Amino acid sequence: VTSLQAAWTWIDGRLEPACRVDIADDGRIAAVGPATGPPDRDRREVALLPGFVNAHSHAFQWGLRGVVQQGRDALFALADRLDLDGLHALSRRAFRAMRRAGYTAVGEFHYLHHQPDGTPYTPATATALAVIEAARLEGLRICLLHAAYLRPSGLVADWAAGQRRFRDPDPEAFLARHRQLADAVVGLGDSHVGLGVAPHSVRTVPADALAEIGRATAGPLHVHVNEQRREIEECRAEYGLRPFDVLDRAGLLGGRTTLIHMTHADDGELARTAAAGAAICFCPTTERDLGDGIGPSRAATASGIRQCVGSDSQARIDPFEELHLLEGHERLRSEARLVLEPPAGRSLAAHLIDVGTRGGADALQLGCGAIEAGRWADLVEIDLSDPDLAGVEPGHLPEAIAFSATPRAVRATWVGGSRSE
Ligand SMILES: [Zn+2]
Repeated sequence: VTSLQAAWTWIDGRLEPACRVDIADDGRIAAVGPATGPPDRDRREVALLPGFVNAHSHAFQWGLRGVVQQGRDALFALADRLDLDGLHALSRRAFRAMRRAGYTAVGEFHYLHHQPDGTPYTPATATALAVIEAARLEGLRICLLHAAYLRPSGLVADWAAGQRRFRDPDPEAFLARHRQLADAVVGLGDSHVGLGVAPHSVRTVPADALAEIGRATAGPLHVHVNEQRREIEECRAEYGLRPFDVLDRAGLLGGRTTLIHMTHADDGELARTAAAGAAICFCPTTERDLGDGIGPSRAATASGIRQCVGSDSQARIDPFEELHLLEGHERLRSEARLVLEPPAGRSLAAHLIDVGTRGGADALQLGCGAIEAGRWADLVEIDLSDPDLAGVEPGHLPEAIAFSATPRAVRATWVGGSRSE
């Protein structure tokens, strides 16, 4: 057993002094209780928080950094030229940056499945396993969200070069690979690796296939929805329905479901999301970068919808920024301050930190995200002597962490009881 005693420990929405966190040899938190002495010598200026969870990532898009800011649509070109080694290397870089920034787990929404001409690799799971291996080498907990992509997105007339690598001919081919992948993940015997399913979007998966994939799988289910107005218009033209209604009719709304973006959701859709017990994943730095719009975090919070955040396109890898933008973008929209109304008993800062930790862990069913006995010991050490935090009164530290800190204040992270600086 390893025991940690930091100056402050994040317990149930508050920073508590004088706590001890015991980590069992299996990497889980064995107990949380009163400290038996002063803080550890090197944790006198540390606040111990649950590690942040990046609930929506496309790791290979790390390779678009900079390139995409020159105004070119570089996604398909990048996807077209990556080989397995390149995908593995880019994923490692992205995952390393995530862990350095304070993320301890990732939901990797993975759709780059095939060789450049569309031929499956041998085994068909090769790219998914390369990404999982990259996360393991960087010590990041991962839920591989195995994505189905069955037809070209409406954004291009037909199969643009890169998209051939994403496409499966039918849901059966996708589900066959999903079963192979499930066996391979079990075979790894690694408690840091989980598996979920991700019909990419209503644009790229027809309605009957959405239903079939939902019925044939278990575990977390993630899907992009209501990201852009054009997606909604195209869906109306095809089905006479909004994308959300197509998902609903396909039976995809429920407690296992996380809806990615929901930028242009209407009030009725948010009410139905709450009633279904589904979660929303906002990706504010990506939504800002793409100019897609402001996600309805105010309405989602008021409706009690479970929420999480993701770095999505990797334009920024910074959990602090994702979280404070949930409130910040709503301030710009409403021309007011303190816009989100947190759940009863939670401060605004606590709500944001919950979204960044427990919210993501639950959306990925990973068993981390809180400093509680039984959860994985996935932690972040926040350096209170960082220039952004030094001198802040203890009573204001949660707000300073949520609104003023950056990854520079991350002194170390723990994943399954293993520490990395
Ligand atoms: Zn995405």
